Formats: sequence, structure tokens, C-alpha cells
Amino acid sequence: MIKENIEKIRKLIPENITIIAATKTRSVEEIKQAIECGITDIGENYVQEAEKKFNEIGNIVRWHFIGHLQKNKVKKALKIFDIIETVDSFEIAKEISKYADKKFPVLIEINSAKEKQKSGIYPEELEKILGEISNLPNITVSGLMTMGPFVENPEEIRPYFRLTKQLFDFCSKLNFPNVHMKILSMGMSDSWRIAIEEGATCIRIGTAIFGPRK
Ligand SMILES: *Cc1c(COP(=O)(O)O)cnc(C)c1O
Repeated sequence: MIKENIEKIRKLIPENITIIAATKTRSVEEIKQAIECGITDIGENYVQEAEKKFNEIGNIVRWHFIGHLQKNKVKKALKIFDIIETVDSFEIAKEISKYADKKFPVLIEINSAKEKQKSGIYPEELEKILGEISNLPNITVSGLMTMGPFVENPEEIRPYFRLTKQLFDFCSKLNFPNVHMKILSMGMSDSWRIAIEEGATCIRIGTAIFGPRK
């Protein structure tokens, strides 16, 4: 199943799009299968869960942190992950810069639908926070990430992806130090087609690769 699912998605998307396998709750065996089928990037939501898997799988893939990062987990996260996609405050960026020993790549998470219960920064806060982060010594902002709202019809998410792409293009032109916009991470199992149409460079896929989570 995993093999067929990955091959099916791979055939449908342009070669330059990265598939991040979103592997929360999946076993090491399942993840290894996905890697054998060509998956090069893994997304995990919890530092502790990722640590166990990392110890068995190692750095044969790139590890993306896609959950909500707490300050007291930053040090450990830096040992496991190659990129943190969910920076949503200056405080967390400062903590990353403090413990990283080289310029560590991060994405800024955008709360594109401005949902109170969701993390991520509001679109109108982006320029200010980016300006602050760009002064930190050990961090590089490599792009943006968004979840978008939960919607019944995936088409309804399009405006939020479009907005995030506009922000991405805006940031590219700011010429802030330590900001090199390359990655736009958006789209999940039910919305990746729309995300790619709207400019995503990375899609984060769980269910459509591994089946429903238990
Ligand atoms: C779980 C998760 C995904 C993948 O969701 P699916 O609907 O299973 O494809 C993508 N991004 C984040 C941040 C997630 O937590």
C-alpha cells in the first residue's frame, strides 16, 4: 500500500516538489518502507516521538519539525531535526539561535486564516517578526509554512494558500539578512493539489501515504 500510494502521488506532481512524509503515530517499519520507496524527507510533530524514531533511522533522511515547539524542547530538537517549520514567535527563534552552532534553517508558520486556537503568526505581523529574527546570529529563515483552516471542501482552502504565497513573494523582496525564501510548505493529503497550484514547494502527506491514523 505505502509503495503504491507514494508512486501514485509522485507521478502526479512535478519533480521539483518535495514530499514530506508526515509520520506522527507511524511505526519505524512503516517509515523505513516509505524511505525505500524514495521518501527523503520526514515530518514529525513531537520531539520525544521523533527522538525514538531518529535513533533507529538516523540521518539518511531530512527531518522536519512540523509540530508546535516548546522552548524547553529546542535543545533536543536541534539534535534531531534539519529544519524547524513552525517558528511562530521571536522568543522561540531566539532560543533556536542560542543553542544552534551554525545558521539553523527555519520556516515561519503563518496562521493564514487567523484562527484563535491555532499557532502561527498573523499575516500582518510577519514583516516585523522577520526583521527581528533576521538579526539573530544562528538562524536562517528559508521560507514559510501554513496549515490553513480545516474545511469540508478542499477548494475552500485555496485563498489561504494564495495569501501565504503572496507573503512568501513579499518576504523575498525585503532583502533582510539571513532570510532566503526557498521553501513554501503547504498542502496535506486532501489539499496538496491545490497547494501546488498555488505555489507550494513542499507538501506534507500522512494519510494519503500511510492510510488513516488510528
Ligand atoms: C499530520 C500533519 C500533516 C499530514 O496530514 P494528513 O492529512 O494525514 O496528510 C501535515 N502537516 C502537519 C503539520 C501535520 O501535523
